[in-house]
Amino acid sequence: MKEKKFAVVGNPVKHSRSPQIHRLFSEEENINLTYDAVCVEPDNFSNWVADFFKQGGTGLNITVPFKVDAFHFADQLTRRARQAGAVNTLFKQEDGIILGDNTDGCGLINDMRDNLQWSLNNKTILVLGAGGAVRGILGPLVNEKPAKIIIANRTKSKAVQLARAFSPGLPIAGCEYSDLEDLMQADIIINGTSASLSQTLPDIPDRLINSNVCVYDMAYGAEPTVFLQWTKKYGAVCLADGIGMLVEQAAESFLLWNNVRPDTRSALNAIKEDIKK
Ligand code: NDP
Repeated sequence: MKEKKFAVVGNPVKHSRSPQIHRLFSEEENINLTYDAVCVEPDNFSNWVADFFKQGGTGLNITVPFKVDAFHFADQLTRRARQAGAVNTLFKQEDGIILGDNTDGCGLINDMRDNLQWSLNNKTILVLGAGGAVRGILGPLVNEKPAKIIIANRTKSKAVQLARAFSPGLPIAGCEYSDLEDLMQADIIINGTSASLSQTLPDIPDRLINSNVCVYDMAYGAEPTVFLQWTKKYGAVCLADGIGMLVEQAAESFLLWNNVRPDTRSALNAIKEDIKK
């Protein structure tokens, strides 16, 4: 079989686990491919991507800071990419059209629902943060038919704006952290802020944390994130970081490109082990 060419594009991109994940998937599915990590200068993104596809590339993953550039680059967008306003996957189809997709939200849902076996249906979900990653997860989250979604963010206006954009059909509210004093209880809390990356905590009432609540931090690292450590201290037992989301979003990209969905279990275990080293 002819070797297919893929890459992840970002700046910086050295830290990316995507080449390792896609190598594991390709070995499992016996697909002949190369997958590189490429750091591109901000003003050269479109030229580089156009060249990549001209030279026979099949697909790209897009990471910070280019997800909105990729959104504008694509000839066509999937519904979830349009909802997210950002693209993390580009695919040159057989007709030559470049399709833009966003697999981040689906990756999170697959991890929570299938790997962790958390039920989202009819639950009250508190989402912390209102940046690009949260915008990407709201559409897939709404599709799971929770009872209610509350988006809380340091900058309230962004949370309110996001809630408005996704509200038709579902009770979804935007607020700031101090407004959470009025919230009785959440079933699931998703930390979609980047606070864990700077070892800080979103300022939410500790009263919301107990043994009944499931806590997901989209950030990840060798150790449990500061947010997961803090929630554990206040009694949460059902905890997960974003490694599963990372592997699951990669699996969705792999499916789009290769028409086969890899079994994510062995790749997830391998990445979890490797990240601890
Ligand atoms: P953005 O920069 O777009 O948004 C950052 C968000 O975090 C904003 O809502 C910001 O609030 C908030 N924030 C930042 N610092 C703090 C703080 N100290 N206290 C409270 N809130 C804070 O980032 P992204 O949305 O792209 O990424 C968010 C997180 O999701 C990151 O940790 C990233 O690593 C993770 N992620 C994980 C993925 C995975 O596959 N596991 C995929 C994509 C992202 P404000 O609006 O007030 O500035």
